[in-house]
Amino acid sequence: MDYLDDISHRGGVDMNLSSKILVTGAGGFIGGWLVNDLLIQGYTNIRAIDIKPLSDWFQRFDEVENRSLDLKDPVNTLAATSEIEVVYNLAADMGGMGFIEKNKALCMVSVLINTNLLESSRLNGVDKYFFASSACVYNQSHQLKTNNPGLKESDAYPADPEDGYGWEKLFSERMCRHFGEDYGLEIRIARFHNVYGPLGTFDGGREKAPAAVCRKVVEAVISGSHELQIWGDGEQTRSFTYIDDTVLGIQKLMECTYSSPINLGSSQMVTINQLVDIVENIANINLKRKYILDAPKGVRGRNSENTLIKEILGWEPKISLEYGLEKTYQWIYDELSSGSKKTWL
Ligand code: NAD
Repeated sequence: MDYLDDISHRGGVDMNLSSKILVTGAGGFIGGWLVNDLLIQGYTNIRAIDIKPLSDWFQRFDEVENRSLDLKDPVNTLAATSEIEVVYNLAADMGGMGFIEKNKALCMVSVLINTNLLESSRLNGVDKYFFASSACVYNQSHQLKTNNPGLKESDAYPADPEDGYGWEKLFSERMCRHFGEDYGLEIRIARFHNVYGPLGTFDGGREKAPAAVCRKVVEAVISGSHELQIWGDGEQTRSFTYIDDTVLGIQKLMECTYSSPINLGSSQMVTINQLVDIVENIANINLKRKYILDAPKGVRGRNSENTLIKEILGWEPKISLEYGLEKTYQWIYDELSSGSKKTWL
């Protein structure tokens, strides 16, 4: 697998495998895979926290200290960061476009998680702090056309991010920056671009486009009803990043010295119609497409511009959409055809 090959070539990295690490949002999609990756690398001192009950986590590992805590509460962030050296903050109330357009207040309340975690990190003497930001911070005027040349990091200003969720991420980025400048906390910030893969949300309203399309195609295959609903006209463009690239990118970022926000996203831009083509091809099926023009669509065009990450890390996400969707489709197919969604623990 590309990703594991890449791990084995991480020579020269100064890794202290006994560092005490906190991963927040560890019961979620990216957090679960990050804990998995840290264990593979040999880290032995990991604390994993999520607000969800432990039984609802996508991945949970016995050798990790797992806790269910609400990190909006400063009492809990103080306990969470106690004796911790490195924080990975991936906890947030989030979802796909349908969720973030309808839950702006809820998305903005995640500011309490990052704020209290930063302050507690300062009080508890944490050394390094990772924040999971998003392409939703980018100024919307750069995303009006489908042929987006790629959003570069400077395109976040002047600020006009996605309302609600994007403002929270942009504000929290700045909060991180000032904790770095004023208190010497080492900051790393990745702007994720549409991460997808197995062991993530694929139904219930919080799922993002790749998981939603895979689920709809699986449902069509299982039910024999060959109609597929697409939000908008399907010509809106995005890039999608496979989870293995995201987790590897987070680790590479932590190992470098760059502290400003950086794109961590694939630059393989496709239309939603092309995304559907790929999944139909995997499932060997052709569906009748029904376009829901008044559904939430988000910006018209978005892609990741990767000059900076290539310069800083000498690397950029490289796993193809075809490969990643195959893995994702297969996992969702297995989940739905087994009739149980709780087979992952
Ligand atoms: P996810 O929803 O699977 O994981 C987030 C986790 O945070 C959830 O398990 C949730 O229960 C937890 N959480 C929410 N509120 C909490 C609280 N008060 N205390 C403790 N835990 C809490 O989402 P994900 O895709 O794994 O995203 C991880 C991070 O990456 C988030 O910050 C998200 O905003 C960011 N991000 C993700 C994407 C993507 O495409 N998945 C894109 C851009 C940014």
